[in-house]
Amino acid sequence: MQVTCPTCHRSIDWKNAPHRPFCSERCRLIDLGGWLTGRNAIPGEPVAEEPGHPHETPADH
Ligand SMILES: [Zn+2]
Repeated sequence: MQVTCPTCHRSIDWKNAPHRPFCSERCRLIDLGGWLTGRNAIPGEPVAEEPGHPHETPADH
């Protein structure tokens, strides 16, 4: 089964991808960084809404 790395869009073999759905840990970290900066893209996986929306909490950082 071939999947596409969400970060670099490279085709990878699902069975041989320890960092799936990414091609490497580097791409995984890059994507996580994207989440932190507001750019999120995880195709195929529904994002569960967590109780207590982060953007609605009072500014306490
Ligand atoms: Zn990649």
